[in-house]
Amino acid sequence: MKYYDKLIFELSEEGRIGFSLPDNPWADSSDRIPAGLRRSVPPELPQVSEPDVVRHYVNLSAMNFGVDTGFYPLGSCTMKYNPKIDEEMSEYPGFSGIHPLQPAETVQGTLRIYHELAGWLSSLTGMSAFTLNPFAGAHGELTGLMIMRAFHISRGDLKRTKVIVPDSAHGTNPASAAVCGLEVVQVRSTAEGLVDTDDLKSKLDDTVAGIMMTNPNTLGLFEKEIRQICDAVHEAGGLLYYDGANMNALLGKVRPGDMGFDIMHLNLHKTFSTPHGGGGPGSGPVGVTQRLKHLLPSPSVVKSPETGRFAIADNPEAAGRISGFMGNFGVLMKAYAYILMLGKQNVRKVGPYSVLAANYIKESLKDKYRLPIPSLCKHEFVFDGLIEANAGDPAREVTTLDVAKRLLDYGFHAPTIYFPLLFHQSIMIEPTETESKETLDAFIQAMRTIASEAVTEPDLLKNAPRNTPVRRPDETGAATRPKLVYRQDKP
Ligand SMILES: *Cc1c(COP(=O)(O)O)cnc(C)c1O
Repeated sequence: MKYYDKLIFELSEEGRIGFSLPDNPWADSSDRIPAGLRRSVPPELPQVSEPDVVRHYVNLSAMNFGVDTGFYPLGSCTMKYNPKIDEEMSEYPGFSGIHPLQPAETVQGTLRIYHELAGWLSSLTGMSAFTLNPFAGAHGELTGLMIMRAFHISRGDLKRTKVIVPDSAHGTNPASAAVCGLEVVQVRSTAEGLVDTDDLKSKLDDTVAGIMMTNPNTLGLFEKEIRQICDAVHEAGGLLYYDGANMNALLGKVRPGDMGFDIMHLNLHKTFSTPHGGGGPGSGPVGVTQRLKHLLPSPSVVKSPETGRFAIADNPEAAGRISGFMGNFGVLMKAYAYILMLGKQNVRKVGPYSVLAANYIKESLKDKYRLPIPSLCKHEFVFDGLIEANAGDPAREVTTLDVAKRLLDYGFHAPTIYFPLLFHQSIMIEPTETESKETLDAFIQAMRTIASEAVTEPDLLKNAPRNTPVRRPDETGAATRPKLVYRQDKP
């Protein structure tokens, strides 16, 4: 262990001080704080010099893996590069320094950006209107389902309490339906990994509120029969919800509105390049077609046709309110800057390049990794473990977990593993459009080396990673029994 990998408390030396503060004019007024809220003993803080603090935190930051550190092919998550100009624009004091309760007249520029972004998202998806208020994809799903339910209730159609969800769906889909008080009905996939339309049709009746679909689905496959599916669901009186998490594959090329969807969400932190995961909060705008527009949640930004001025309005028919104010504006601002930076011409290239990168990796590795569904993929695809995995030999058998851990030794973030649940050894790879061919080649090379190691030196994989700051933790224990304090002996 390097000296500065120590915990900051271990670097502490009594009396060492790395800061100076101006005299505190309130020092004598602490008795104004009720006694019960005052500390009886001063907090135990580490006593360290400024260089110690700087080195500690810089080293700590380098222990983490991010999209700024290396290739991050985490399937379903669209870990594309986050352009720095987006960060810069969202930090302008005119945007970052305002208050949500400020009068609309004083934040016209910000409201204009909200209004324009909603318009751009509508054009890109073929929807009529968007709310930018939901805070994540899953939050958008809940918002969309609330709209779906409100639509049926407003027509007195109270029997419709079921939502159809394909078995390949992301776990948030059935979860959101359940949170919304709707009953989940699963529909099967065919051997080709697409929705089984016969199974779907057998489940359509007048109790179905709608269907949630991801297209391309979580196997990275385009649902070719989407028009027939939309017609069948509409004929049965249901609505179609589009989970837009995989929109990157279609961006600039195909629009969910044109496929026949009624409601959808986008994950700005996926398709529109804003940081996510440990990198920052998300945003899950929800779009709807014309006939559902009046049900979008409050508040919304409206533009006066006479004066061109913007106002914040409550919608009397809204399906509800899902945020205190207007969503994660910092995230919206980054997505706005991203679209502006790409422009109309380049936004059309995002989908095709992301699809090209995924197919390139798939074709370059399919002689080493089991490819259960060999057809052309969209922006991501799924392997079902190694072809030569020493199966049946417990001492030598290598799993998808071992492959993922070994990739860390080669400086790559692992792909998504054990999702989707359709296969036992799923490895889901999504390269995105922002990686160079050289990076893709280096990743392919690492995956091929790992496949050889699995045969010749399986222990290398089973004990990986070897050169990361943390080796192979007990992942269940880390979640269920985390150690959150420095000193375990203190109460
Ligand atoms: C990421 C994802 C979601 C959920 O989005 P969050 O923003 O993480 O809440 C839903 N569906 C699919 C297919 C996803 O990949």
